[in-house]
Amino acid sequence: MIALTGDHGLSHSDAHLPASLAPWLDRPDEGCSCGRIHQVPITRLGVGPGLIDAVPDYLPRPAAGGDLLLLADPDTWQAAGEKVARTLRAAGHRLFEQVLPAAPRADDVTLADLLRTLPCTPGWIIAVGSGTIGDLGKLLADRTGAQLCTVATAASMNGYASSIAAFTRRGLKITLPMAPPRVIVVDTQVLAAAPSRLGAAGFGDLLSKPLSGADWKLSHLLLGEAICPTALQVADDAVRRARRDAAGIASGEPAAYGTLIEALLLSGISMSIAGASSPASGGEHLLSHYLDISAEGWARPPRLHGEQVAVGTLVCARLYAFLRAAGPPAGPPPSEEDDDALRILHAHLPAEALEALLAEARAARQQKPDRMARLTRLREGWERIWHTVDEQLGDAAGLERDLATAGCPTRFSQIDVDPSLAGQLLRRARHMRRRYTVLDLAADLGRLDAFIAERAWDADA
Ligand SMILES: [Zn+2]
Ligand SMILES: [Zn+2]
Repeated sequence: MIALTGDHGLSHSDAHLPASLAPWLDRPDEGCSCGRIHQVPITRLGVGPGLIDAVPDYLPRPAAGGDLLLLADPDTWQAAGEKVARTLRAAGHRLFEQVLPAAPRADDVTLADLLRTLPCTPGWIIAVGSGTIGDLGKLLADRTGAQLCTVATAASMNGYASSIAAFTRRGLKITLPMAPPRVIVVDTQVLAAAPSRLGAAGFGDLLSKPLSGADWKLSHLLLGEAICPTALQVADDAVRRARRDAAGIASGEPAAYGTLIEALLLSGISMSIAGASSPASGGEHLLSHYLDISAEGWARPPRLHGEQVAVGTLVCARLYAFLRAAGPPAGPPPSEEDDDALRILHAHLPAEALEALLAEARAARQQKPDRMARLTRLREGWERIWHTVDEQLGDAAGLERDLATAGCPTRFSQIDVDPSLAGQLLRRARHMRRRYTVLDLAADLGRLDAFIAERAWDADA
């Protein structure tokens, strides 16, 4: 294999680079049919058994890379961090550790603390963990100007290779554009040793793709949002790969975890290609994010992101089916909620989160085309729009079967959301982001309340 050397003196020729991911590293500047040039600034990536012993091979030589700052939480420290730290020190690196308290959050408070207590000026951040630690690593690398190496500890979500970070600012969950890690190292033995619930959650996060893709296309058709066929294709490939091995996730087979993490990395790359979370985050993600930000007000501890997303995916699939069956809009559009109505609806949120939500909802109201014009487009293009959506959604029954096989929750009741809470959630979640999703389509058509009243989110209703 020819060793190509990118910037920072890192070679990306590697026996553990999966063939499906190789084309995206140091890709030549080829234009895409969407009119843009997509570059994924990940330089080295390895997936394989035993790779936590090989992390030094993925980094520059000790003197060249500067000081290393390893970021972990108590669980990920135990799963891999301690060993990675030992190996890096043995290789001659000067390494500092920052082990956060249990269950850290990627929020403004934690980030400010980390920046205030930096033990060194890091050349590299070594983030050992999954969603939260990975996102904190991206944010910290961005703020300090360091390079980022992420060592994955669970196949629990698709954000490793994405160019965004989920971040809670002033109580509201947002996504920030953020460079993906320069280096990603995945030890499949570490993934398979993690609780199987984590792998099931990753599978759930991944399988939201048919829904988020449908929402993205819907937004393209109704609002003219730019869309990228390459990003959609990469995300579709990722889902197809992982769905072959749903049973292996539940039974903890290392090979299934290899397939799953490859798909999750591809899904992350699809977001890096799009430069946004659009190919992998639609209404189903809003439902999960809204549950997260409502945790205190609703006295319901959040479940794993991918578990909530899995349920949201099936609910959104049923909402699409419900709207299609009800037929094109007949009467005039319903009126949009004003700020006063929103303040009442979202009164349980912390004050700052409420203000941030109001700003998003205002931006959504000012979106062009407005609700009236969107309904005209819907009426005139009804069949064509559904043809596009159906093609993207594919086999919804198969989705439910595969999610259940992998060990994912598939019902609100399985994630501690009772019918009353489900109704509140479905009614409110769409206000938190301006992105157009099936939840907005339901509101535009004046059918969201009927969906809630009939409890049509539940297959058994
Ligand atoms: Zn997700
Ligand atoms: Zn493109």
